[in-house]
Parts: sequence; structure tokens; C-alpha cells
Amino acid sequence: MDSFHSIAEESNMIVAVRVRPLNTLECTRANVSNVVNVHGHNELSVQSGSSADASAGVSHYFSYDQVYYSCDPERKNYADQLAVFAGTAQPLIDTAFDGYNACLFAYGQTGSGKSYSMMGIEALDDAALDGNAPHAEAGIIPRFCHELFRRIDAVKDQLQVEVEVSYFEIYNEKIHDLLSVQHALTSAAPDTPQHTRQALKVREHPIFGPYVVDLSAHSVDSYSALRNWLAVGNSQRATASTAMNDKSSRSHSIFNIVLNLTDLSSDDGMSSSDTDSGTVTLRQTRRSKISLVDLAGSERISVSGSNGERIREGVSINKSLLTLGKVIAALADTRKAGGSATPSTFVPYRESVLTWLLRENLGGNSKTVMLATISPASLHADETLATLRYACKAR
Ligand code: ADP
Repeated sequence: MDSFHSIAEESNMIVAVRVRPLNTLECTRANVSNVVNVHGHNELSVQSGSSADASAGVSHYFSYDQVYYSCDPERKNYADQLAVFAGTAQPLIDTAFDGYNACLFAYGQTGSGKSYSMMGIEALDDAALDGNAPHAEAGIIPRFCHELFRRIDAVKDQLQVEVEVSYFEIYNEKIHDLLSVQHALTSAAPDTPQHTRQALKVREHPIFGPYVVDLSAHSVDSYSALRNWLAVGNSQRATASTAMNDKSSRSHSIFNIVLNLTDLSSDDGMSSSDTDSGTVTLRQTRRSKISLVDLAGSERISVSGSNGERIREGVSINKSLLTLGKVIAALADTRKAGGSATPSTFVPYRESVLTWLLRENLGGNSKTVMLATISPASLHADETLATLRYACKAR
């Protein structure tokens, strides 16, 4: 993954693509074939055309910072959950420790592997966990959290790190807390959360920028405490999804980790302690926020046959994803112009709740990783091409 590190140092926006395997149903359907070919570590091509014959039709070539081929474990270039984490999210821990914000979002049509990549498949039985470490099938979020606490432990003599998490979803431009628990937090797992489904509002903080009013935030001091909150949020998300006809594919979920970092070394550039004169030590502190985002499915919702609720949903999903596309394209233009924002590179953060809330994680000195997930199946070729074109706008 050295190549990623060198790219990550140069650019504030990394675009990676992950190709999932054909699923059992796709494999057994005679008219479905694999139309995605991966060339090296950063190029791929897609065969388009209505025919199931992958050799027919037109080839479209794309290149990104990284392309992860997760189709066939037997292949040399197969990228498992660990490889995807190491190449995309792991470098963001350095970013956060340096005091900068970071953001990683998964974009793609429903069923293309966003949740698998972000969350993965959690071991149902805790006893199956290897020393409380993430399961082999665990995705980016649990791996990121585990690695974060490993790093915090490794630097604890020089750096004090306080960790706070929040988790919410945006559905139809409305924000719902996934970690709101009526009873006060105890260090034990909050196993029976009772959440309110009240929509929350966004406001601007004079220093930290946009934030969600009344969103619950929880201090955590270990990976297992954090995992408990993640489990609470995931189950609240799943419950709401079941109640509302697989809503999770139509909502954006945002897991935020805020780090408050305090240098413990005395030569930190700030006034040092002087016990004789009673001078108070001013430690250097910095704050960073990491947002890990599983976006709603990017497929276009067909208006014909949709009811009013579905149409409203489609409009707001498209509004968020469309605005996100505009924002990342404007940021790409700004970077190409050497960092100077001109009127032509106006960044329309306020046009959707999603981009407004991610503002401090997308622009400026923050580092952003876009992970576009695609299916290799011929029946999804049009959506795959739409995803790949969207991902190109960020570069
Ligand atoms: P999405 O979140 O984009 O709707 P999912 O992550 O739920 O899609 O993936 C759809 C299905 O495909 C799930 O059963 C998931 O386990 C499987 N899947 C996705 N990506 C991979 C992958 N890289 N390797 C193996 N299975 C995958």
C-alpha cells in the first residue's frame, strides 16, 4: 500500500473503486456475465451494451488512485477487507492525529458493497472475536476504531487522546440520532436503547462549523466500548429499516469520531510548567473529526409507478448525492487551480444537509477518501458506468 501513502500525502482527495464478486443469483443466471476487468492497481474497464456477452459492446476505461478487485480470492490481486482498509482508511488515522479532519464515504448503487465495505459482516458471537480484534469480515469502520485505540495506546506517554462518537442517519433531508438512549450512559453495553425518532436540526458553531443540535455524543475509552455503541447504532438503523421497507438503502449513515488531542511532552511549543512560580502549564491541544459515511444507494429511482413518499425520497437522495457530486467537483477544480477558490469554483455545501454537515471534513486541509463500489454484473452495467463517472468528477 506504499503507493497509496505517497498519493495520500500529495492529495486531499483519494478516489478508490472496489469491485464486488458476482453473487450466487447472478452466477446462476444464464444471461448475466462479468463485464468489469481490472488492469493493475488503478485501472479498470467496463464492457457496455445490452448483450450478456462480455466480449460484445464498447469498452470504457477508467483510472483512479486505487482499484480493489474483490471478486475472486484465488486471484493474485484479490483485495480483502484488510487490504481495502489499509489502503483507504488507515492513513486517515495519521491525518486525525495531526489535528486535521478526515472523511471517507462509500458511494454506489444498492447491493454494490457499500455496507460490506464500511461495516462488513460482524461476528454474531463475541466469543468468535480474536482477542476482541475485528473479525476477518469486518469492514472499514470497526477496523478503523480498533486501529485508532491501538495507536492511542502506543502514544499514550506523549499524547492524551479523548474520543467521542456520534452516529446518525439522514433520510429525506431529516436527521435522526442512532445513539440516543434515554437512560444515562454507563460503561456497560447499553443493550436496550430506547431512541426517539425526532428529527434534529443543523446549526453553525463559530469555531467548529456545522453541527447537529441535540445529537448525542458518547465518550469512549476503549475499542470494546466503541463497538458497543456501533452495535447500538446498527441495530437502531436495522430496526428503522425493517419498519420502513429497507429504508437503510435509502438513507445516508454518518459515524463521527471526534478526537481531542493534548500533547503531554513539555517541549510542545507552548508555555511549560514552572512549579516553583506556580505557572499553569498550557498544553497544546488540537481537535479532529473523522466522518465515516455509508451513502444511500445511488441508483436512480424510477418515477413511474412510485408513490408520493418514494418520489420525495428519490428527490432528496438525488439532491444529496447530486450536491455531493457538485461539491467534490468544485473542490477538485479548486485543487487544480492551486487551492485558490474563484467564483467559478463556488462550493455549494449548503444545498443539502449531507454536504453542509460534511463541510469541515471535505474542504480545506481535510483528507477525503471516496470509495466507489460497483457490481461486475452485466445487468448492472449502466449503474456501474454512472458510479464510475461520478467518481471521476472527484479527480
Ligand atoms: P450495499 O450496502 O451497497 O447495498 P451490501 O454491502 O449490502 O451492498 O452488499 C450486497 C451483498 O453483497 C451483501 O450480501 C454483501 O455481503 C455482498 N458483498 C458486497 N461486497 C462484497 C465483497 N467485496 N465480497 C464479498 N461479498 C460482498
